[in-house]
Amino acid sequence: MEPINSYNNSFDKNIGLSDFCFLDKIEEIDILSNLSTRFNRDIIYTYIGDQVVSINPFSKKPNLYDEKLLKSYQNMYMYEVSPHIYALAEDTYKKLVLSKENQCVIITGESGAGKTESSKIFLNYLKNISNDKFNKTENIIKLVLESNNILESFGNAKTLRNDNSSRFGKFIEIEFDGKGSPISGKISQFLLEKSRVHSRAIGERSFHIFYQFLTSRELTDRHQIPSDPSYYKYLKDSMCYSVSTVNDTKDFQSLIGSLKLLGWSEEDMNSIWRVLGAILLIGNIEFSNDVEKNNVDAVYVSTPDTLKKVAQLLQCKTDLLEKSLISRSLTLGAGKRQSSIRVLLNQSQARETRDAFAKVLYDRLFSSIIERINVTIANGIDHKCIEMSIGILDIYGFEIFENNSFEQFIINYSNEKLQQLFINLVLRQEQEEYLKEGIEWKTIDNYFDNTPIIDLIEGQPVGLIKLLEEACLIGQSTPELLLQKFNQFFSKNNYFESFESTNNFQIESKSFTLKHYAGDVNYNLEPITYIRCIKSNNEKRANYFDFECVKHQIKYLNIQETIRVRKAGYCHKQHYTRFLNRYKMLSNETWPFWNGTPKEGVMAIVKASQVQNSLMECQFGKKKLFIKSASTLFHFEELRTKI
Ligand code: ATP
Ligand code: MG
Repeated sequence: MEPINSYNNSFDKNIGLSDFCFLDKIEEIDILSNLSTRFNRDIIYTYIGDQVVSINPFSKKPNLYDEKLLKSYQNMYMYEVSPHIYALAEDTYKKLVLSKENQCVIITGESGAGKTESSKIFLNYLKNISNDKFNKTENIIKLVLESNNILESFGNAKTLRNDNSSRFGKFIEIEFDGKGSPISGKISQFLLEKSRVHSRAIGERSFHIFYQFLTSRELTDRHQIPSDPSYYKYLKDSMCYSVSTVNDTKDFQSLIGSLKLLGWSEEDMNSIWRVLGAILLIGNIEFSNDVEKNNVDAVYVSTPDTLKKVAQLLQCKTDLLEKSLISRSLTLGAGKRQSSIRVLLNQSQARETRDAFAKVLYDRLFSSIIERINVTIANGIDHKCIEMSIGILDIYGFEIFENNSFEQFIINYSNEKLQQLFINLVLRQEQEEYLKEGIEWKTIDNYFDNTPIIDLIEGQPVGLIKLLEEACLIGQSTPELLLQKFNQFFSKNNYFESFESTNNFQIESKSFTLKHYAGDVNYNLEPITYIRCIKSNNEKRANYFDFECVKHQIKYLNIQETIRVRKAGYCHKQHYTRFLNRYKMLSNETWPFWNGTPKEGVMAIVKASQVQNSLMECQFGKKKLFIKSASTLFHFEELRTKI
């Protein structure tokens, strides 16, 4: 492990450099070699200025998170301590308290890179601050972490890329009072991948909760449903029931503990189990079309016992449930002449309706759980009255499977947007500001810009999303028609390619490929701050550094260009008035009153503070002071506390 105070710029061949900005050369190989040197010594965190790069070791490192180490980060600045998420959490908290402005941490990286784990490590640090500074042992962040546990059971699943993959995006806000004490929380969720309830790739699982729930014989007996996962079609189809790294029995006990802690009673929990049982059994409802009994195409439920059991679990009438699965209502006419009739569905329409029903039920269950969690963690406080907050964004990471459908399209599109935000804030706006403020600067512009792909997806008046929306509105569109439309508009676009192919089974498939920032993804049209996380390998192997896999991520995450901007750029900038107010005691000229312009006042403070290399370290822009290195900022702070 790296010594806690090892933030320095001298190269130690055993542990490499703690900040990529200290590298003399910033070629890909230099970055990789620093990363692997550190990785081989169990050092998984490295700074790029004020950003933390984390590389997933796929093995537990208890020493890295023990209480003693955590406490050693308290009241320290990032540049005083070795890189860690704790350092970023401390820094974020300090900024919150000093500036009284909301802070946000964005965690990016592909699926399995360690975003969710990082978010928990971050929250754990904040929990500790709450305990130590405000003596709140039963604190709100503890409840948020318990809520996280619940959300992972219901919103995470084993995929081919990650045994505990988040299948929804979440934004957790911790809200603070004016003194910096955490007083309430809020969780927002985005786009749960609900189709996982009825289908997924072979070798993947549905949401963890289904397998956890079935481990309890007591509960399955109580609700009189089979406890064997292979009984249920929805779980059977993907042929994966257990995961070597996941203990469903233990996780279920832990879930019950969290639910109880957040105020769920036995009865409340029972309603969850009933809905889960119903969803599983819905998948076993089958349909037939008996020509004798019905007209040719129309169907009836051929598994009446299962239907009855589902109705019993959902506490609704069996005949009404059947009616809603085998028919749909159609509205005719308008105004006073409006009337509605029921149209019988054919077999495949009835199956689609069944799966849609299961999907919506699960989605509503998930939303209602989050709603209830939010009431508890709001802690009786009106969010409108909140003075300041720290937000942590953890979404599902970029993913490429053999079969990529609408869900992957949305997941990868969200990641493109995050990447665009990163490029805008860290690479583009930062440099634009230097130029605007008249700071001497040689523009770095050879970074991977993903604007063209975003334009292709969300372009107006014509983009992929617009055309998809149109197709849904018309309702009669087919994969062929959609692909034709895409081709009509985008055949000459460099980021788009369309395919019509025939597979081994002679089934024609329609698909298109998008050239995303993180790789090319083929999407199937057939119905079937930052903490930068890096995956050390694609096989989830412990302590194994795969050069090619890491190199690819370094490239698309724009790590090289980020280091360039951060290394040559300025770690800190502040409006003259603000700087003057904070440090005016450092110069006899500015203390106690200053009558000149704020810029001249700041110049006097910098001069009086005897900053080493001040010509290089401090640049005076039109409205702001730009400080090159963290140690200079630290120098001002130190002088201030000594007075
Ligand atoms: P997704 O986008 O699929 O949700 P993710 O980026 O959130 O992926 P995580 O679920 O956080 O990825 O991490 C995947 C797995 O990697 C974890 O379950 C854990 O086993 C391991 N892991 C992640 N971070 C660490 C860490 N800091 N130390 C040890 N193991 C880790
Ligand atoms: Mg995750």
